[in-house]
Amino acid sequence: MTILVTGGAGYIGSHMVFGLLDRGVPVVVLDNLATGFRSAVPASVPFVEGDVGDADLVSRLIETHKVDEVIHFAASSVVPESMEQPAAYYTNNTARSLALIDVASRSGVRRFVFSSTAAVYGNPAQSPVAETALPQPMSPYGTSKWMTELVLRDVAAVRGMHHVALRYFNVAGADPALRCGQSTRAATHLIKAAVQAVLGTRDGLDIYGTDYPTPDGTCVRDYIHVTDLVGAHFSALEYLRGGGASTTLNCGYGRGYSVREVVDAVKRVSGVDFPVRLAGRRPGDPATIVADTARLRRDLNWTPAYDDLDTIVAHALAWERRLFEMR
Ligand code: UDP
Repeated sequence: MTILVTGGAGYIGSHMVFGLLDRGVPVVVLDNLATGFRSAVPASVPFVEGDVGDADLVSRLIETHKVDEVIHFAASSVVPESMEQPAAYYTNNTARSLALIDVASRSGVRRFVFSSTAAVYGNPAQSPVAETALPQPMSPYGTSKWMTELVLRDVAAVRGMHHVALRYFNVAGADPALRCGQSTRAATHLIKAAVQAVLGTRDGLDIYGTDYPTPDGTCVRDYIHVTDLVGAHFSALEYLRGGGASTTLNCGYGRGYSVREVVDAVKRVSGVDFPVRLAGRRPGDPATIVADTARLRRDLNWTPAYDDLDTIVAHALAWERRLFEMR
């Protein structure tokens, strides 16, 4: 029994791989290194460089390694980039995922966990938003992931492959033991950008939009520590192994912070007062998106260990310092 982790050289995938190693679970990584780093995957882990859309490669890999469970992270995941390159997002996130899902389900994979996103909701009418809300994505990124949820649901149903789609809210932080973290240099995500501003590797921080209908005018997001998110994947597999029905679950903490609150936290935790500029809105950004986590906590029996913004920021900062020292 082996778990295939696609995108295992990426930010979240690499944390998953360390989590599997910690638990002694056999794992094989498939990653095309488009945005991931070979160095993020320990040398002891079988690593295949290639694309999830390469059906022959995936089929051979599943057979060779006797894969019966897949955790599918590999994707493009930057909302503003998807606004500029929609075709690339549909190709990478939807078409290639379809190929993977098709091959996996025909090759005897029993369980499949898919990285979806809160971006499927767009700007939800309800906050916190529950999984029953009608998806109305505002970006090709969100649409590309929603389409894959539907493909997974339909293909898996006829082939008997049980699955969980996890809709990630805003993932941040790093492995508390600092074995891995977010290494993308040109990262666009808020906490990563802010800790780069702390270290001076980025020239301050732009706040994108101060006129949103939120308490302080900046966007509100639900930030979840990457290690807690990885924990939800373990819980999802346990749930499926125990006979749980295929489902879709939000992954967040159920509490929102504004961009200004995050900036304040980064300044407080670091003790550094970096420059902040007020800029215009960024296309594709919803005002507020916070998870209703009732189903996640109930169905998966999941409890977070790092539900604290300052802890998330501290771990992100510690990882950024490590990257800085390794330059
Ligand atoms: N944001 C910002 N400045 C930055 C990066 C992000 O003001 O340098 C804002 C962004 O507009 C959004 C929030 O922070 O309102 C979270 O953005 P991020 O890119 O981290 O995640 P997203 O919610 O887009 O997945």
